[in-house]
Amino acid sequence: MKGIFPVDRFQTLRTPFYYYDTELLRQTLHAINAETSRHEGWNVHYAVKANANPKLLTIIREAGLGADCVSGGEIEASIRAGFPGSKIVFAGVGKADWEINLGLDRDIFCFNVESIPELEIINELAAAKGKVARVAFRLNPNVGAHTHANITTGLAENKFGIAMRDMVPVIEHANQLKNVHVVGLHFHIGSQILDMGDFQALCNRINELQDELELHRIRVEHINVGGGLGVDYEHPNRVPLPDFKAYFETYAKKLKLRPGQTLHFELGRAVVAQCGSLITRTLYIKKGAVKQFAIVDAGFPDLIRPALYQAYHKIENICSNEPKETYDVVGPICESTDVFAKQIDLDATKRGDLLAIRSAGAYGEIMASGYNCRQLPIGYTSDEL
Ligand SMILES: *Cc1c(COP(=O)(O)O)cnc(C)c1O
Repeated sequence: MKGIFPVDRFQTLRTPFYYYDTELLRQTLHAINAETSRHEGWNVHYAVKANANPKLLTIIREAGLGADCVSGGEIEASIRAGFPGSKIVFAGVGKADWEINLGLDRDIFCFNVESIPELEIINELAAAKGKVARVAFRLNPNVGAHTHANITTGLAENKFGIAMRDMVPVIEHANQLKNVHVVGLHFHIGSQILDMGDFQALCNRINELQDELELHRIRVEHINVGGGLGVDYEHPNRVPLPDFKAYFETYAKKLKLRPGQTLHFELGRAVVAQCGSLITRTLYIKKGAVKQFAIVDAGFPDLIRPALYQAYHKIENICSNEPKETYDVVGPICESTDVFAKQIDLDATKRGDLLAIRSAGAYGEIMASGYNCRQLPIGYTSDEL
């Protein structure tokens, strides 16, 4: 055992693999429930796209969260994990007909609709089944999040959602359609957001929009503010839980809900990031002219965030207690971006040592690919090891 890791058990497993600390996951879910249960009508949907490992989905469902899906496959994964249709929301700019039909067959809570053509297809497919689909409109609030450009989604230039000025006409149009029922407004401004001012700006915008809707005598049953709360990638040991208190308090204080209106959240990263680590074995230590490299058996096909978003993950050698040395930790793939970290200090590392790439529970295993004909990494939980 070093830190939280059962290293002896790890020695028997094929690397690289994901390891999930289910105790931490349960603590995280408990912290979320402790904050939200104090408010009437608050619901959290877990954003399945962050990690659809069935063992984690089951734990999340057991904690009472709903599921936020962005594809038919995610709806199927949620149902397999036991989420009831009534707790599933379905978002996405390009829903295929079979995916819409699946949502209709499962009587999901709500379709988060991103365009008029999509609304009309949902209406048509619902009519064919003699059903009325519950829909919310995803509005693009033109609120910037101070995060990486590739993961900000709430600006007018992004492909997501319906422009604010189209909000009233779109709702009035939907109200003419017989097989859709407008129940909510949906927003999602980006990911890995740590500045509560960004969520506050979203609240202010929603307040304005609700005032405008009121002038047209439109009131919706629920507001869905999406997800996006960030985690501390620098200090996974010291700060294993996101700041749920500050996050939920921002909404409690700044968002003006109408009487009876419910509030929905869609947290992904904040739920699962810190409980996961990618465990990889050191293959070679290569001393270059100016640097030394720790060449490991994981690469960007196993964890793409550093290559895709220049994301930082803390790395620890879980087999060594030697004095620290400086390394670039790199994978075996023939691409210059296949680097997990540059110039970091690790306990002196030798061939065979296991490294833990921390905070990898979100957008890790789920984004893995088989590039280079590699096997997909397996995900193990602390419960089963
Ligand atoms: C990705 C996504 C989320 C979750 O985002 P996190 O940053 O992981 O919390 C929530 N809602 C929608 C619509 C999304 O696309």
